Amino acid sequence: MNVYDSELIEQALTPLNYKITSSMETADLIIVNTCSIREKAEQKAFSYLGRLAGLKRKKPDLIVGIGGCVAQQEGEKILERMPHIDLIFGTHAITRLPRIIKQIESKRDRIVDVKMSGKIDEFESSSVSKENGKITSFVTIMRGCDNYCSYCVVPHVRGRETSRHPDSIMKEIRGLADSGIREITLLGQNVNSYGKKEGLCSFSELLSSINEISKLSRIRFTTSHPKDLSKDLMFAFKYLEKLCKHIHLPVQSGSNSILKRMNRKYAIESYLEKIDRLRRIYPDIAITSDFIVGFPGETDADFKKTLDLIKLVEYDGIYAFKYSDRPNTSAAGFLEKVSEHKKKDRLQKLLDLQEQYTTNKNQSLIGSTQLILVEGLSKRQASINEQPAFSIRDKRPQAVQWMGRTSNNKVVNFTQDDSSILYGTNLTGKMVNIRINKAFSHSLCGKLIKDSPTFLGLKGEEGYAA
Ligand code: SAH
Ligand code: SF4
Repeated sequence: MNVYDSELIEQALTPLNYKITSSMETADLIIVNTCSIREKAEQKAFSYLGRLAGLKRKKPDLIVGIGGCVAQQEGEKILERMPHIDLIFGTHAITRLPRIIKQIESKRDRIVDVKMSGKIDEFESSSVSKENGKITSFVTIMRGCDNYCSYCVVPHVRGRETSRHPDSIMKEIRGLADSGIREITLLGQNVNSYGKKEGLCSFSELLSSINEISKLSRIRFTTSHPKDLSKDLMFAFKYLEKLCKHIHLPVQSGSNSILKRMNRKYAIESYLEKIDRLRRIYPDIAITSDFIVGFPGETDADFKKTLDLIKLVEYDGIYAFKYSDRPNTSAAGFLEKVSEHKKKDRLQKLLDLQEQYTTNKNQSLIGSTQLILVEGLSKRQASINEQPAFSIRDKRPQAVQWMGRTSNNKVVNFTQDDSSILYGTNLTGKMVNIRINKAFSHSLCGKLIKDSPTFLGLKGEEGYAA
């Protein structure tokens, strides 16, 4: 979500002639887009901002701004705490940025704008230009959240849940597809409740319409709240061929008493029932989840239930976090805090347990053929190409390594060598069949299948992508 907002910020500032630079020293404007979901993220943002004070002393005309959730949460307090900051803008102020920046440029005012009043459809983005070579993009379909999970700061810093109109979403996605985007990820804190409040179409209906966009190859979405996971959405995995077969379904804990105090509004039994139904409808669907360890009052017995859940579900992957108090949340006031030591220990145990399942799932794919959408050069290849001595024109590499994802969201690296029929072709944006021959804990490796490449979503010219 923050990556998407950073793109919107970039887009808002383009008409003022600001361009992205890779060097902070030469920048005229530095904007730090922040997240406050966990305490650590907030601390990182402040320490980063603190380090900018020296630069501002050397360059007094430099404009330094802070945006996002920390800005929304702390507002004016940041002005006192950090005299080198010129601008504090909240999560609803992005569309007002051009006017604010102009005012700072001309009057050198220090400005705080944390009003929660941006209209959702004003956020409509066309930030992905034809030239940037990207083939995947985020699309926000809703903002804010009404669920008030007791540990979570989102409703407090991002405001009430609001859905964008489907026409505005479709227009944006068609534009993205026309500009070369092949895969979109729909974003919302709880996409399953899309449109309910406003009486728009349902989320599965929205997915069906997007599925009809011919130039688009793939659709992903995040995040689903288990309490609102509908049968229609489950069947969408079966019937919508462009919908990737992966669902991120954060459960947070395996203990009903903890779930109750988290205000998650489901019990573990109904969560498991939904997983079971999903797997019956689409057996190969990948399921991932989020967990919080050390929620106030979490006992060893509660934690054991979380480990048991992981063993039972056998997730494809998980994200796990140590609980931290967030301002204005009800859990911040709960007693029986779990010690840092215990949280660390539980986190490690949980991650170690999951690691086995992730690796096993990946290993089970060895020998299989996976259709992947190529996103670009692999990380390793990109870093080789960045080395000054490397020039694709002077010295044609023996083999080029590309990276893509399976429908199940597994990262696959594969090599294109001179035995490949696509040798020398820029594969970015293409769908290709890969035979998996190696599996690691977080990625797979494979070989391009010579005789059965699938040329869906063709894009790009011949020649290596450098
Ligand atoms: N809307 C999504 C979650 C968004 S926040 C949902 O309901 O699932 C992403 C993840 O951050 C959450 O799933 C949770 O695991 C974690 N998180 C949120 N608040 C936290 C806190 N106070 N401490 C630790 N982890 C937290
Ligand atoms: Fe936070 Fe809960 Fe809303 Fe997710 S559903 S954003 S965890 S309040």
